[in-house]
Amino acid sequence: MNHSAADLPWLEPYRRRLVDYALAGRVPQALLIAGIAGLGKMRLARAFARRLLCRRPGAAACGECASCHLFEAQTHPDFLAIEPAEPGKPITIDAIRRLIGTLSLKPQYSGYRVVILAPAHQMNAAAANSLLKTLEEPDEHTVMLLLTESPEALPATVLSRCQRMDITVPDRGHSIEWLAEQGLAEQAEVLLAMAQGAPLRALALAQEGVIQKRGEFYLAWGDVARCIEEPVLVAEKWAKFSCEALLDWMISWVIDLIRLRAAPNCTTLNNPDLRKSLQATALQLELKNMYRFLDLLNATKRRLSGQINRQLALEELLIHWSRILKTAQRKIYE
Ligand SMILES: [Zn+2]
Repeated sequence: MNHSAADLPWLEPYRRRLVDYALAGRVPQALLIAGIAGLGKMRLARAFARRLLCRRPGAAACGECASCHLFEAQTHPDFLAIEPAEPGKPITIDAIRRLIGTLSLKPQYSGYRVVILAPAHQMNAAAANSLLKTLEEPDEHTVMLLLTESPEALPATVLSRCQRMDITVPDRGHSIEWLAEQGLAEQAEVLLAMAQGAPLRALALAQEGVIQKRGEFYLAWGDVARCIEEPVLVAEKWAKFSCEALLDWMISWVIDLIRLRAAPNCTTLNNPDLRKSLQATALQLELKNMYRFLDLLNATKRRLSGQINRQLALEELLIHWSRILKTAQRKIYE
């Protein structure tokens, strides 16, 4: 299902604030919309762009005028989307130069011209520098919407020239309700924990079949601890999957193990669906070893952004993990 901003209730206050800007004739010429992935920043920005370009706007775009039709067909001449040529690649100075070229011409329809630049933190230094002049001396028709999940990665010079709107993680209860409406009532809590509370990210994870993958990896992780599976073989199999996801899962399991070791009836768990199994494992572990393992997991996570051999890193973690339980069991049986 493709949700428009109007179907995402947590965006409503932001949408209303943007409409108020438009009604009051105070639309910022450069607006930075910041917030973690999966909150709907792009949908919010697109709905606002459509509203600004609409010929007969009310609280939202009319959906019927020529401008709305062009926007829907993605052929509106006064709407520009700047993005990396490939996902994950930088936004280059060439893209910004082309943008500046287009902005030097008058809008084709009277009224606004809207640019959505995302992800803004993926502009390389030359691109950001080149954009500065446009941000400093905007023409009165142009509205620049910069979207980012890492505002801290943007140069201060760019930040200081943008008005800022921070989209915060919605209330947990509301997100669970919304996920239940999408048919995910049972998995809502787990998905939300995996998505750092971002509902659209949680929905995307569900659609990618992540719950099942996590279950499979959890079983393999348990088998490693019980010496049923070889850490090296498990690492080989799982290194093909997202190493970031595997580390996040292990970190969340270990945090839950620590919580359950300290307080067996602890109610706030990252993985409420795994409570029983985690509880049983926690009883066999020593807190200090778990903290040490958590440190190792976090250190490895930080190294993932660099050039590391991921399979080897995963192997190292699984070997460490297999020894923790063995050490604990030896103690018990001695
Ligand atoms: Zn319209």
